Amino acid sequence: MKYDVVVIGSGLGGLECAYILSRAGLRVLVLEQGRQPGGCLQSYRRRGLAYDTGFHYVGGLDEGQPLHTVFTYLGLMQLPWQRLDHEFDKVTIGQRTFAFAQGYEDFTATLAAEFPSERPALGRYAALLRRMSEQELDLLNPRAGKTVWPSRLVETSAWQYLNETFRNPLLVDVLSGTSLKMELRRDSLPLFTFLHGQSSFIESSWRLKGDGALITDRLVRGIGQQGGQVVCGAEVVELVEKCGRLSAAVCRDGEVYEGAVFISDVHPGQTCKLVKQSERMKNAYRHRMAGLPNTFGMFTVSLRMKPRALEYFNYNRYVYAHPGVWTFYEEEEPVSGVMVACRVPEDGSRFTSQVDLLTPMPWERCMPWSNTKVGGRGEDYEAMKRCVADECIRLAERVVPGLRGWVAECYASTPLTYRDYIGAPEGTAYGLRKDYRNPLAALLSVRTPVPNLFLTGQNLMLHGVYGVTMTALFTCAEVLGREQIWNILMNKKGVEI
Ligand SMILES: Cc1cc2nc3c(=O)[nH]c(=O)nc-3n(C[C@H](O)[C@H](O)[C@H](O)COP(=O)(O)OP(=O)(O)OC[C@H]3O[C@@H](n4cnc5c(N)ncnc54)[C@H](O)[C@@H]3O)c2cc1C
Repeated sequence: MKYDVVVIGSGLGGLECAYILSRAGLRVLVLEQGRQPGGCLQSYRRRGLAYDTGFHYVGGLDEGQPLHTVFTYLGLMQLPWQRLDHEFDKVTIGQRTFAFAQGYEDFTATLAAEFPSERPALGRYAALLRRMSEQELDLLNPRAGKTVWPSRLVETSAWQYLNETFRNPLLVDVLSGTSLKMELRRDSLPLFTFLHGQSSFIESSWRLKGDGALITDRLVRGIGQQGGQVVCGAEVVELVEKCGRLSAAVCRDGEVYEGAVFISDVHPGQTCKLVKQSERMKNAYRHRMAGLPNTFGMFTVSLRMKPRALEYFNYNRYVYAHPGVWTFYEEEEPVSGVMVACRVPEDGSRFTSQVDLLTPMPWERCMPWSNTKVGGRGEDYEAMKRCVADECIRLAERVVPGLRGWVAECYASTPLTYRDYIGAPEGTAYGLRKDYRNPLAALLSVRTPVPNLFLTGQNLMLHGVYGVTMTALFTCAEVLGREQIWNILMNKKGVEI
């Protein structure tokens, strides 16, 4: 059987593309190497509890906001979303704590109360965030005549912009303090990526009552209902090109799947390696993709709390031992920056059963074990994990005093875990590094030199649930046309089920 579309990888981007295209009536097959779908959104179970691997909160889900329309279309608004508190993020630097409030006016007012002389600059900053968010869907509007992101924001250094806009270095740290969800690097991070990582959360911030796999399961079910198929344990080892077009995906077990269009949710460098022989894909493109650096990976501590020990708090905490939010992860030790997020209670009580602690971990720290596999990395690796987890808990205790005493069980994962489970090179958490000095790479096109091979996922323009969803729309626009995708966004019945 020949499929209309073969999707390689069942991360969020792959599943969203498969959902949209199968809903448009195309025969879609998703091939996933892992035992379960979802990529970063999959969860794992330990003694009856499901632990998330790559999801804590998402922005922009309120009615009228872009993700609300798309998630409604994808069937994801039916999930149990819980809005975070008005002050949804709290950033502690040293002894002081600052809040991020939802809504651009309140966001400005809350921070201006702490930094009164910076009020005008904060107002300009919030206006920029709002403008960017309002304009971002224009690129999908077939009548807007725009095809590229605003180059000024892509080619501007986030670090330089912040330091030229605000006089107080502490405010720069505070504004950057929630950006553990991207790679803060002075020498590369584009303003565009920085703003994007903030605006949707300021518009509205949400958590799932449950684990991220709820998103995956809903999409997989929808794809099935629409005649599509998701096959796990199907590692694609080759994409076969015939007469300048891809014709089939070959899996490790020898199965061959023919298709008319191929979408890769896999890292672009690895996607190129799958196209072993090609008239279209020249070495220059392959080398360019292979040479692009990756963002850092994450060290995650998943804590199971003792029953009725810690009251759930409906916001996230970001804790830094000292100023220097842009550079803390370069320090050897101890851990000096951590994000703290609680799981919404599912038993109707006030108490949380799980807490996650996250801190960046550059690949260099994983190098001693780079030739090992899950379950066989040795005692020194386990000792490193215990030590880093301990430091994360110690830092988190600055804002959650007594945390350590309430921990019943502790599990930790490193970038090596992500590398081995989802094939993320160097265990990268947010895919390819975006670099304002290399705007073409910062906003990789969904097109490739092979005309029927398209890319999707967090390695392209934007990462995170919001960014990957927007990119999936761009990928699907290549297959269905911008008009159909625009109709989805405008909430018109453009695509028949
Ligand atoms: C620790 C952590 C915390 C995060 N927290 C948040 C958060 O709170 N909010 C938020 O919005 N975002 C968060 N993110 C980011 C978000 O999870 C990701 O941006 C998003 O899930 C990435 O989706 P993707 O489509 O790029 O695919 P990925 O998740 O990268 O999935 C790619 C898939 O391709 C499969 N694959 C690879 N090679 C092959 C092959 N050869 N054949 C078949 N299949 C293959 C992999 O197994 C995987 O399933 C977090 C990420 C991490 C790591």
